[in-house]
Amino acid sequence: MTETKGWVTGVNGNMVGVRVEGPVSMNEVAYILVDGKRLKSEVIRLKGDGAQVQVFEITKGIKVGDRVEFSGELLSVELGPGLLGQIYDGLQNPLPLVAAKTGNFLEPGVYLEPLSRDQAWPFTPTAKTGDLLRAGDSLGTVPEGVFLHRIMLPFGLPGAWKLVSLKPAGSYRIDEVLAVIADEAGDKRELTMVFSWPVKRAVSCYEERLRPTEPMVTKVRLIDTFFPVAKGGTYCIPGPFGAGKTVLQQITSRHAEVDIVVIAACGERAGEVVETLKEFPELSDPRTGRSLMERTIIICNTSSMPVAAREASVYTAVTMAEYYRQMGLNVLLLADSTSRWAQAMREMSGRLEEIPGEEAFPAYLESVIASFYERAGIVRLRDGGTGSVTVGGTVSPAGGNFEEPVTQATLKVVGAFHGLSRERSDARKYPAIHPLDSWSKYRGIMDPDAVEYGRSFLLRSAEVASMMKVVGEEGTSLDDYIVYQKGEFLDAVYLQQNSFDAVDASVSPERQKRSYSLVLEVLVAVIEAKDKEDARSWFYALRQKYLDLNGAEWASTRYSTLENEIRGLVAGRSKGREARGERLIKVLE
Ligand code: ADP
Ligand code: MG
Repeated sequence: MTETKGWVTGVNGNMVGVRVEGPVSMNEVAYILVDGKRLKSEVIRLKGDGAQVQVFEITKGIKVGDRVEFSGELLSVELGPGLLGQIYDGLQNPLPLVAAKTGNFLEPGVYLEPLSRDQAWPFTPTAKTGDLLRAGDSLGTVPEGVFLHRIMLPFGLPGAWKLVSLKPAGSYRIDEVLAVIADEAGDKRELTMVFSWPVKRAVSCYEERLRPTEPMVTKVRLIDTFFPVAKGGTYCIPGPFGAGKTVLQQITSRHAEVDIVVIAACGERAGEVVETLKEFPELSDPRTGRSLMERTIIICNTSSMPVAAREASVYTAVTMAEYYRQMGLNVLLLADSTSRWAQAMREMSGRLEEIPGEEAFPAYLESVIASFYERAGIVRLRDGGTGSVTVGGTVSPAGGNFEEPVTQATLKVVGAFHGLSRERSDARKYPAIHPLDSWSKYRGIMDPDAVEYGRSFLLRSAEVASMMKVVGEEGTSLDDYIVYQKGEFLDAVYLQQNSFDAVDASVSPERQKRSYSLVLEVLVAVIEAKDKEDARSWFYALRQKYLDLNGAEWASTRYSTLENEIRGLVAGRSKGREARGERLIKVLE
């Protein structure tokens, strides 16, 4: 704590006014002393000798005149081995411990150690005494889950440091001094396995930022094939309540081809986060067969927690993601829902009596959202390796209206947009990503021409469908009707994916390519039919075969048999291929 003194002058919801004597800075952590408790808060406005602090706890009981202490530190997280597998609240309190202690979330003013002080970690040095090191460079490693966790120089250290001494291989606790470093002036510092980093400041001790080009495979066909996400890229999932945002993020957290997943959960419904907390630790990692939690960190808030904690949880999560990126790992950060965070900003801004922007959100909403997504990125580290943070956020606009400020601000900065459609989720077409409204700026796993061809079919099919609503089936030509059937076929067998089927839930890029080329064969074939009834029943039969294929083990005998049957069905009905289609099939082969 610093010498600076403070006294509460007023309480307005989670915003507390404080009279300050002594130096204080923006975003500094302050503690309000109430009935023997110390409630954590953050300075968010300074004016003369007055400060406004947002309190991360319920403010009941705070009175005018209560003492306030200032920490001299910015809101920070503790970084070190042992983060993986943890479930934290927005202030980095481990929740299972909390649950064990109180049966529920924390008592106000109780802050627990984020990392175990007692656990010993087997350390292997990689640096040598005499080495010149900088912030973010490694001293050595400890195994954490299936990864080697790099023990690094604290991120904020300025300049180059000479390694004066380093402990030999052996088991150490995180607070034990592992190394001594000295700068040019000979000033020495002792280093342990942990350090703190301010959550609102992006970590930048890498060589350079790269362009996100490599696909981050999610194993969801609709995403990987049509609206891909790149490693180090950003995407958003806006959608109305109940359209499947949370389920889609859960599927992704399980199957995406990344090393580590950090989940920032700001619950929409009471109990939703608690459900996640109960279910997640039970899940097994489809890649390793071990517990999925071993490579996951969950930061969570429920709607009953104070709004300020929501903001903290989003920043805490992204900071941890950057920390693991610095170890050369690919990290996926999922934030659900960013609208809850934006609502918190709106509430705080209202209390500060700031001039409101659109829909009473603060005028700086856009820049705050932009700077959050800008923390994503793929970087080249000083050792030549790369690491990435990919950020995906859900947005839950009231009534599913994408014109509102949070969705719009997000769309301006992200690289891919997976818009969920109420119409599709009502029809139980999952994942309910709208195949025509969504977009991606990234290149994915598939040939872009082939993807475009499929999209154009969906568009034509949708046009026929809407025309058919007006003129009826009778008024539609057989050719148009077949276009419509082809579009429906693509939708049913490829866009929709059964997340409850063991095989269909996650589809490798290899399998997606092969399966998409088989779909294309159907699309490009000039199908003959006697009449619409004939066309309908034929497509129905084809669809059933294809759904069987979706459930068949990859590259099994059954898979090839079904492929052949589908090819046979198509050959028996087609008068050859469209000219453009001929070329596409070649590209995919
Ligand atoms: P949101 O987060 O958008 O409010 P949820 O993700 O909680 O919506 O989904 C609401 C419900 O929709 C789920 O409980 C589930 O029954 C159904 N659902 C969503 N996505 C899928 C899916 N991919 N497969 C099957 N059911 C789904
Ligand atoms: Mg949800």
